[in-house]
This record gives sequence, C-alpha cells and structure tokens, in this order.
Amino acid sequence: MANNKDNNRRHGGGGGGNVCSFCGRSVVDVGMIFAGIDGHSTICDECIERGHEVLHEHDEQMKQAAVPVINKDELLKPTEIKAFLDKYVIGQDAAKKTLSVAVYNHYKRILAAQSKPKAKAAAKGGKQAMATAAAAIDEVEIEKSNIIMVGQTGTGKTLLARTIARLLNVPFTIVDATVLTEAGYVGEDVESILSRLLQVADYNVEQAEMGIVFIDEVDKIARKSDNPSITRDVSGEGVQQALLKILEGTVVNVPPQGGRKHPEQKFIQVNTSNILFICGGAFDGIEKKISDRLNTRVVGYNQSAARHIDRNDLMQYITPQDLRSFGLIPELVGRMPVLTYLQPLDKTILRQILTEPKNSIIKQYEQLFALDGIKLTFAPEVLDYIVDKAVEFRLGARGLRSICEAIMTDAMFELPSAEAKSYRVELDYARERIEKSALLANKQ
Ligand code: ADP
Repeated sequence: MANNKDNNRRHGGGGGGNVCSFCGRSVVDVGMIFAGIDGHSTICDECIERGHEVLHEHDEQMKQAAVPVINKDELLKPTEIKAFLDKYVIGQDAAKKTLSVAVYNHYKRILAAQSKPKAKAAAKGGKQAMATAAAAIDEVEIEKSNIIMVGQTGTGKTLLARTIARLLNVPFTIVDATVLTEAGYVGEDVESILSRLLQVADYNVEQAEMGIVFIDEVDKIARKSDNPSITRDVSGEGVQQALLKILEGTVVNVPPQGGRKHPEQKFIQVNTSNILFICGGAFDGIEKKISDRLNTRVVGYNQSAARHIDRNDLMQYITPQDLRSFGLIPELVGRMPVLTYLQPLDKTILRQILTEPKNSIIKQYEQLFALDGIKLTFAPEVLDYIVDKAVEFRLGARGLRSICEAIMTDAMFELPSAEAKSYRVELDYARERIEKSALLANKQ
C-alpha cells in the first residue's frame, strides 16, 4: 500500500486512507491520494491543485489590494472612518472626529484634482454637466490640510495615524523629528522621510505620492525662545524650514537609500503635494501658554461673555497661536491647518485599553493560550491591578504591555507543557510576579 520511497504517499488499494479528507472522494475517482503524517488525514491531487489555485488567486487579490485605488465610490465617509478608529482606539473622540474629516477631505481633494482633466476632456466633447463641474473645479483649488496632534506621550497619536493608514491601505511611515537635521549636519536630512515612504511603497512612486507620513516629536524641533531675535535656535528652526518645503508640496529629489530596485539611479523625484503629513508632539508645558493666552483675554473688558474654562483640561482650547508661542515658526503652523488634541489617559480609559480594542493586549494573550488549547481568564482585580501599576510606574498605556509580560512570562513558559485546559490569573499570583520582576527596580 504505502510507497516505500515516500511513506506519506499512497495510491490505489483499499483502507480508510483512500478517501480524501477534503472532498470525500475515493481513490477510484481521483488520481492520487496523499496521507498526512498522522496516518488519518488525506488529500487528493485535485484538492491540492484547487488549493494551489486558491492561494494563487489570493496572492493576486492581495497584490491588487496593495495598490491604493481611491475612487469616489470607495471613499469612506468621515463617520465610517471614525467607526473604524473606534475599533482600535479608545476615547479621544475629538481627535478621531477631526482626523476623520481631515482624511476624508484630503482624499476627496486628490480625487477632485484627478477628475479635473477628465472633466475638461468631457467638456470638450460637449457634455454640459461635466463642463459645469470642470468650471467649478477650476474656480476653487482645495488646499492640502496637513494635521497636527498635540497630546502627552502614550495617548494614542501614533496609533491613530497608523490605524488610518491601515484603513486606507496607503503607504505609511513614521519618522522621529528629533533625528532630522538641516542638510549638511550630522543626522538625517529631511528628504530621508521620503526615502522611507518610497521603501514602504516598494519604490512605486505613484503610491508613495498618496501616502501618509507621521512625524513624531515635532515639538522637539521648536525654537527654544519665544523671541527669535534674542536666541536663534538655528538647528530647530533650520529643520522646521526644511520640513516646511516638503509639507507644502514640492518635487523633492529623493536618494533611494538602499533601494534594491534602483541601485544605479541617483535620485527619485517625489511630488509631496498629495502626501498627507500628520505631525504629533507632547508639547510639554503648552498648557501654560494656553492658560496665559486665556487669562489675558478673560481679564479684558468683556468678562461676562467669557466662556467657562475648564482649568483641568486646558488642552482642548489649543490654537495655532499657542503652537507659535511654543516655538514653531508661523509658516510651519500655517501648513498644518488641522489642529487637534489628545486627552491624558485616566484609569478608566487604561482599563478599557487593556480589554476593549479589537486587538487589545488581553485578547492577544487569550489568543496565544487558545492556540495551545488553553482557555485563559483573568480575575477582574488583576486587570485593575495592572492599570494601577501602569499609573504608579508612570508608564501610561505603553506600560500595560510590559506589566502584562512580567505577569505572564512564567505561565507562558510552563503551561504549554502542562495538562491544564484552562488557566485563571489571580491577584496574588499577579502581585507576586510583579514584585519579583525587574519592573520594580526600574520604578521612579
Ligand atoms: P503616542 O504616539 O501618543 O506617544 P502611541 O500611539 O504610541 O502613543 O501609544 C502607545 C501604545 O499605547 C499603543 O501602542 C497602544 O497600544 C496604547 N494606546 C495608547 N492610547 C490608546 C488609546 N486611546 N486606545 C487604545 N490603545 C492606546
């Protein structure tokens, strides 16, 4: 029965191994049947062929999906974008709304620009409605609206930008503004941002030109003094000037940098007009600038009309003027017309972050254990304890994972070889793990 050369291969003959476990047909109906290593599961040649076809089709679909075809019918509405963000990001409603609208408008603007030549061509062909549309488009040029998000570190700025890029399926890259320097200085030139975007887009310039760049820690390139004439912080301001150029939309000569596909090519030209730049920064101390501005206004004559100000959450009143007071040059502030803020995360939100997002940390652990056939549960006090520790260690949402790792490492080491089919993490156990962990040593 079994072929001597290959124990896994069977053809002909009787026995239970001669029916394909996938299609149920017997060896008389198909050409060949292969047995799995357990001796029970089998697959016939036709199912293998069909499987191969399915994989091939899937590959093709993935390739097509990777090309950002942003067409009008597929353009998600702001409410749909926000609903998607809600699945992954907890709270931060103000930022989510602003971002959803900005992203929607951004891609609508690209579409309008793309349809302009078409509309004009149609107008030449005498189509009246299209001609009117072309005229309207000619009148109004929609400007690009880059975005700036202000909020403490670990509040979800990067997560928001990353989630949007995932939704749109456009090339996305994150750069840290602190490594950028003016051309000629040690560090990375601003053009390197575009090299990375090109890399992510696999050197497809057209795709890269519709991508999203998240520039983190943009507050770190602020001018150190309010008054440029007294202390000119040349490096910070120089980087801002360089950034300004690519943010407003220009054709940049980008060094391919390690590009496999163009080793011979010196520069690739990238037009940044349709690249969406989302900047983020903690802007530590900006509340003081906001408060100063609000105070001067409140002390003025029209006090009765002054709105109630929530002193505990001053960030919500942030304006472009505050970014300028913080040290961003007015031109750069002007190039990021969409300004939004993120709220600090309190215990309730941290608790939600732990369990609610689609791929929350707890869900990830449950899944890891489920793959070993173990049902993992956490006593609710453990979740509260994890949150308390994150706050105590001043780690914010970023700390939730390291605390969970410290609690779970031993269990993840031992359980896969144990008999248990379920496992519940209790408070005493969690406490003991944390007290023994290196996290405590790093505290303060
Ligand atoms: P930031 O860019 O503001 O410094 P991140 O977006 O990098 O912060 O957040 C750090 C981590 O914390 C993320 O990977 C995410 O797991 C978690 N996190 C932060 N804020 C949220 C939130 N609002 N909802 C869900 N997870 C969050």
